[in-house]
Amino acid sequence: MTMTLDDKRTQLSVLNQGVGACRACPLGTQRTRAVPGEGPIDAEIMLIGEAPGYYEDQQGRPFVGAAGQFLETLLASIGLKRTDVFIANVIKCRPPQNRDPLPEEIGACSHWLDEQLGIINAKVVVTLGRYSLQRFLPGNPIGRVHGQGRKANGIWVVPMYHPAAALHQGSLRRTIEEDFRKIPGYLAEARREAQSEPAQPALAAATAAPQVEQIPLF
Ligand code: SF4
Repeated sequence: MTMTLDDKRTQLSVLNQGVGACRACPLGTQRTRAVPGEGPIDAEIMLIGEAPGYYEDQQGRPFVGAAGQFLETLLASIGLKRTDVFIANVIKCRPPQNRDPLPEEIGACSHWLDEQLGIINAKVVVTLGRYSLQRFLPGNPIGRVHGQGRKANGIWVVPMYHPAAALHQGSLRRTIEEDFRKIPGYLAEARREAQSEPAQPALAAATAAPQVEQIPLF
């Protein structure tokens, strides 16, 4: 059954409260603030990063530091504002010293992202960085698949380098700029499919073991 926008708002509000109270892994006692994610309840595009950093932990919002500013520049290059997309991370609490998230932390946190995906039901998921990529397309190296959208379990997944990495490497910056410009094409394809196919069920539950159904179009 299709959820109304009010249903979605209610479910997301409950989810945000749950994330705020979560202590399912040790990061829950080390964070300043949990960072569940933010954006329109009916967003067509979800951007999924890795984990909150220092500024995100302070403010409880995703992508608010330098990488966030670059992300806003990238979105502007395709005519979007950050308020047009839903932004979240694979894990919702900051790892100490911004270290990589541990497998057990990712495992403990994965149901929150599953639930967000199910509520928002976006047409395109953009993965930012390798941890997000592995969440949706495990076994695919970012260097080989960046910018190449693939349909996994009924949703278009478009892998990108993480904006923070691109900030520090000029060549990656150009690459992510070029990759971002492909997003509207994948969104257009997803919209075409949505018009020609019956409504799909919520996509989140199946993302842990995706089946890649199509090879890149662009
Ligand atoms: S990182 Fe995820 S699982 Fe761990 S405490 Fe935070 S919300 Fe809970």
